[in-house]
Amino acid sequence: MYDAIIIGSGPAGLMAANQLEKSNKNYLLLEKNSVLSEKLLLSGNKQCNVTNNKTTEEFISDLTLPHKYFLYATLYKFGPNDVIKFFQEKNVELVLENQFKYFPKTKSSTSIKNALLQDLTKQKILRTNEVKSLFKEGETFTVNTKNTQYNTKNVIIATGSKSYPLTGSTGFGLAVAKRFDIDTKAFYAAETSIKSEFVKRELSTLQGTTIKQATVKLIDTAHSVIDDLLFTHFGLSGPAIFKISEFLTTTPNPTLQISFTNHSKDVVVSMLKDPKNNNKTINQFLNSLTTKKISSLVQTQLSLENKRLTEYAHKQLEKIANYLTEFIISDPKLFPKEQAYVNGGGILTTALNPETFETKKIKGLFFIGETVDIHGPLGGYNITLALSTGYSAGYYIGGN
Ligand SMILES: Cc1cc2nc3c(=O)[nH]c(=O)nc-3n(C[C@H](O)[C@H](O)[C@H](O)COP(=O)(O)OP(=O)(O)OC[C@H]3O[C@@H](n4cnc5c(N)ncnc54)[C@H](O)[C@@H]3O)c2cc1C
Repeated sequence: MYDAIIIGSGPAGLMAANQLEKSNKNYLLLEKNSVLSEKLLLSGNKQCNVTNNKTTEEFISDLTLPHKYFLYATLYKFGPNDVIKFFQEKNVELVLENQFKYFPKTKSSTSIKNALLQDLTKQKILRTNEVKSLFKEGETFTVNTKNTQYNTKNVIIATGSKSYPLTGSTGFGLAVAKRFDIDTKAFYAAETSIKSEFVKRELSTLQGTTIKQATVKLIDTAHSVIDDLLFTHFGLSGPAIFKISEFLTTTPNPTLQISFTNHSKDVVVSMLKDPKNNNKTINQFLNSLTTKKISSLVQTQLSLENKRLTEYAHKQLEKIANYLTEFIISDPKLFPKEQAYVNGGGILTTALNPETFETKKIKGLFFIGETVDIHGPLGGYNITLALSTGYSAGYYIGGN
């Protein structure tokens, strides 16, 4: 009889194992893949953006979840600052990038994975052990793999979402929840690029171009982000798109409005009308404002002659400003959840105790990490959430 069986070796499962190891609990971690933590290894371009420099308060405020205050208890126990301390104690130095994101100094996600494994007893981690089913009789859970049955007092489900199934996360958590009649929401793409036939066709000359600090709005909603926007061979990508993408799921016939410059429409209009720019030709003006590719696109699409700005009617200058700052993409399509970096949905937080991540319905059954209906934006939020929820469940079962 084990004290706990953890299913899944992502950051959530490994952090829970660290807490159980610390409290000398008799636990096992079962992982279906032959490689542990495959998604963690891929994360942050294999460099792993493990957390960020936000305070816990700021971290929670940055989340877009309507139920984000559910995360107060766990993030105050183990927040971004505790992530930094945890890795420092394991001799992994983290360095700050762009005054925001923390990466290991080695610039290798392997350092993070190794640190999470460093203090665990090797024999307690069983690879190529896919859990097929789980049931409970009295106070005891039986966990079935292909060849073995394990009995345990507690089970921690840390099996992730449905994003990147090749890394092992195939939505097993939802199947368990269904079996125990626990409330869930279907997984959906929460951080992904956007496909657009219109962009492919009309903006093909911009492939590979990045607009720094572009504004991307979801028309007829309150959702708007300012961040880097990248034009690709399939449509749109980059941090601005990753951030806005989750809202496309819930918006019928979504339409995006993007800007080709980091200036607002009013600022562009006043620049176009500024007497200082009177003698500039439209080509000179646009080249000073944006990239040559965008400058040439605007001139072609609006059939602009290369005249001086004073020679343009005010209406036409407004039209140019409009094109540059309120450009409409009418057919944005999300990539499927399997291709999204992060999924929303999962076990509803209302089904869980916020201090421990134990289900309210089934004593001894815990869900942590991305298998729970919690997610954050780009910037180390998701790994921090996995580590924090893993900490809370492991700490509690450890008797603390
Ligand atoms: C390409 C990419 C880059 C990313 N980069 C970042 C980043 O830089 N920073 C950031 O914060 N987030 C990043 N994320 C998101 C982050 O990696 C995830 O949110 C995080 O890994 C979730 O951790 P988890 O432990 O909940 O689940 P996972 O890491 O998905 O781990 C789940 C584990 O459970 C195992 N499993 C599943 N079913 C079973 C079963 N039946 N039996 C046994 N084992 C099972 C899986 O094989 C897997 O190992 C990235 C995601 C992707 C796809």
